[in-house]
Amino acid sequence: MLWKKLSKEQIKERVFAALNENRNYDSDYILGIPGSYLDTEQFYRDADFLKEAPYLQTLINNPNHIGCHTLTEEKGEDLFRGTQKLEIELIRMVSEEILNAPEKSVDGYVAPGGTEANIQALWIYRNYYRKQFRAKNHEIGVVYSEDSHYSFPKGCNLLGIQAIPVKVNENNRQIEADTLEQRICDAHVQGVKYFIVIANMSTTMFGSVDDPQLMAGVFKKLDLPFKMHADGAFGGFIYPFITRQNQLDFSNPHINSITLDAHKMLMAPYGTGIFLVRKGWMHFAATEEAQYVQGLDYTLCGSRNGAQAISIWMILQTYGPQGWKSNMRELITETDRLCTALHELQIPFFRNSDMNIVSLRAGYFPDELGLKYRLVADTYQGNARWWKIVVMPHTKGEVIDAFLGELKNLKN
Ligand SMILES: *Cc1c(COP(=O)(O)O)cnc(C)c1O
Repeated sequence: MLWKKLSKEQIKERVFAALNENRNYDSDYILGIPGSYLDTEQFYRDADFLKEAPYLQTLINNPNHIGCHTLTEEKGEDLFRGTQKLEIELIRMVSEEILNAPEKSVDGYVAPGGTEANIQALWIYRNYYRKQFRAKNHEIGVVYSEDSHYSFPKGCNLLGIQAIPVKVNENNRQIEADTLEQRICDAHVQGVKYFIVIANMSTTMFGSVDDPQLMAGVFKKLDLPFKMHADGAFGGFIYPFITRQNQLDFSNPHINSITLDAHKMLMAPYGTGIFLVRKGWMHFAATEEAQYVQGLDYTLCGSRNGAQAISIWMILQTYGPQGWKSNMRELITETDRLCTALHELQIPFFRNSDMNIVSLRAGYFPDELGLKYRLVADTYQGNARWWKIVVMPHTKGEVIDAFLGELKNLKN
């Protein structure tokens, strides 16, 4: 097991050892690259507290993690190899110990966010279809539920491929097989021959989780080629810890790549999306012109600060797998409590029982109450139909009680 609970001292030791392995202006002659530290006038490097703050120290050292390091693990020789090795370890921890991948079977990198990770997936599959099948862009379509994140239509727009949103059942937020089949047949008639399918490991608005087997079944029935990507940007650090049998991880052969976002449930700093894909696929995103990057570049973003990978690694090691699981269980228990109260108040809502998101039907309480407690509406253009609560450590207890108290007062 790579993932285990470490003490503060142990975490510090590992991170500082990694930083020591990196090259920098102090230890080496570095003539060829622009940066190894942040501007030293503005960001002083000699503050005592930095010795106790491995993340901040990494931020100031500013190691560039450009590229995808799981690909060059053995051969790569880079100025910032020390911290890059921690990123490799992080990718393995997440893919193998949270998402059930066989050992060293997954490539990945820390992306600026879930948006990029999702677009990276679309980019890889689009290039795969173009290269292997000589597909034209208009023959490639991305199938996703209407509750999916807007990064998918964004990605389709950027990549010049077809967006194929599919309606969901209004009550259970699930794609139904008939609806999906009809939608695909229509797209097929319009000339789409190659498909990229998105399975949500929790949508942002509802916490709904797609059924990858149902979706794959429709494509198999129609005998149409598809590649499946799971979007776990919202649910990736909670759903796998709660659900009994995760169909949306690498134990499912249909799932070829996964997005996670550590800056959501894991509460890491922004800039901590994670893109994971089975080995053998990253090269479809290779930019061969990127000759100055050792081992080429396979990512959308190019240069990125290695501190972000370190922050995720540190959070995971702080809690360890058991600790994190029990944190997530607490959120679920609190969400259960909220749902029981809503039930008693006869306010209809949607919730997946393995998630910490509750979407309340609008119209059962004044919109002002939704706004006061900063619930998120499904739309701010016209009438909201749903108001969403995300149960997090900061919303537990008092805040939920205050909200429920106001709902109860309305009833009386
Ligand atoms: C937040 C989110 C994204 C996009 O993530 P960013 O980090 O904001 O780019 C993608 N998918 C889902 C389901 C999300 O909740």
